[in-house]
Amino acid sequence: MKTILVKATSKDINEDDMLLAGKIIKEGGLVAFPTETVYGLGGDALNSQSSKKIYAAKGRPSDNPLIVHISKWESMDLISRDIPKEAKILADAFWPGPLTMIVKKSDAVPTETTGGLDTVAIRMPDHPVALKFIESAGGYIAAPSANTSGKPSPTLASHVVDDMDGIIDMIIDGGEVGIGVESTIVDLTEGRPTILRPGYITEEMLERVLGPVDTDKTILDNNSGAKPKAPGMKYRHYAPKGDMMIIEGSQEEVVKAINDNVKASKEKGAKTGVLCTDETFDLIEADVKKSVGKREDEHEIARRLYRILREFDDENVTAIYSESFSSEGFGQAVMNRLMKAAGFNIRKL
Ligand code: AMP
Ligand code: MG
Repeated sequence: MKTILVKATSKDINEDDMLLAGKIIKEGGLVAFPTETVYGLGGDALNSQSSKKIYAAKGRPSDNPLIVHISKWESMDLISRDIPKEAKILADAFWPGPLTMIVKKSDAVPTETTGGLDTVAIRMPDHPVALKFIESAGGYIAAPSANTSGKPSPTLASHVVDDMDGIIDMIIDGGEVGIGVESTIVDLTEGRPTILRPGYITEEMLERVLGPVDTDKTILDNNSGAKPKAPGMKYRHYAPKGDMMIIEGSQEEVVKAINDNVKASKEKGAKTGVLCTDETFDLIEADVKKSVGKREDEHEIARRLYRILREFDDENVTAIYSESFSSEGFGQAVMNRLMKAAGFNIRKL
């Protein structure tokens, strides 16, 4: 298949390209598009065949449900039922934005889209290109991240091209995404609202409008024996090809431990990579070292994280060592993705 590549920025959206993208979706095809979090791989959420195609294109297990993207609140009526009052409160506060809500699904949503569940994940992205595309496609776009299953999510159109060229119908290039990690997922179907996946919208931000909110215990700990409630969170994810270890401690201890580990890995023949910060960059010795930015700037760290993990792959790094970061606030989302990338392999000094 020849994949059509078009550009669309917030300031310059070509109507004909959007019409074509919408037509492709209505005919059952797949279009990758930019959002404020990561690139999405979109298909018609109400068409079971389209959802099947999404799983096939990504190599994604079919029990891992897709997020339905909408462009206006009224679209909730067709795809959900028994909408709890919390949903409207959250939509008023955070939509369009990086928040996905789980509610009960209506019969209009095929179980292929929801991985067999009777609930559905819904989000309204805060990106003019995404909103325009969703409208043009009829209003209901099922879209997981546009990466091959298991790989880091795409934050640049070139990442989507690497994974999906020749496999999907169209890629809309909207430049680098703003946030860089996937949306916060909050479950509204059972008792107290519960965060199943951390993201830019933090527990504190949700509590300010909702009152008490819980967080799934498995987010930063895989030893609790509990099973994550978001089916997708149980898979190894966001992962580079090389073996990865996170090292946590004081800056001085971490630099020493990373350099020692790099030396040991090199002696065993590995090509080494280090994910470090502006503060430690000059102190690290490795075949490939990459700074995610300043330690305190979790927004910059989030935006650069997946891109750097993909660059380690491009440079065939086989042993990766990473610094650890604060897990306060938005840092929880960053650490959750980093821990998953490392398969929860963390050494605390
Ligand atoms: P992705 O779109 O690739 O970011 O993945 C979507 C995430 O949303 C996965 O972790 C899914 O498990 C989760 N998800 C989607 N629908 C549901 C649902 N109905 N209940 C729980 N988690 C869901
Ligand atoms: Mg994903």
